[in-house]
Amino acid sequence: MFALPASAIAAIAVCLGAINFWVHCNVKISLGPLNYLFITPPFHRVHHSMAKIAIDRNFGNILSCWDYLFLTAIEPSAALNASEKGFEIKSDQVARRLIGL
Ligand SMILES: [Zn+2]
Repeated sequence: MFALPASAIAAIAVCLGAINFWVHCNVKISLGPLNYLFITPPFHRVHHSMAKIAIDRNFGNILSCWDYLFLTAIEPSAALNASEKGFEIKSDQVARRLIGL
């Protein structure tokens, strides 16, 4: 139907990897007013928080503007940064999760 050159796919993969690395960096950084447009590590860290106030928040992976537009954004805070992160995967689900089913 449509074909992308291998170089384009490679470039996209590198960009997505760089973005993924960026949002998961353990740094306190602010982009100023651009925080309302682009994801920062503190903003994304809230996405991984297990605090009840952070559930279903900060979905954006590149742009934060969608979260602000759809009212799913929550500002990072010291309390949220200190909250427990992650989620529980039961041992019998690990293999299934790893292969994406
Ligand atoms: Zn993440």
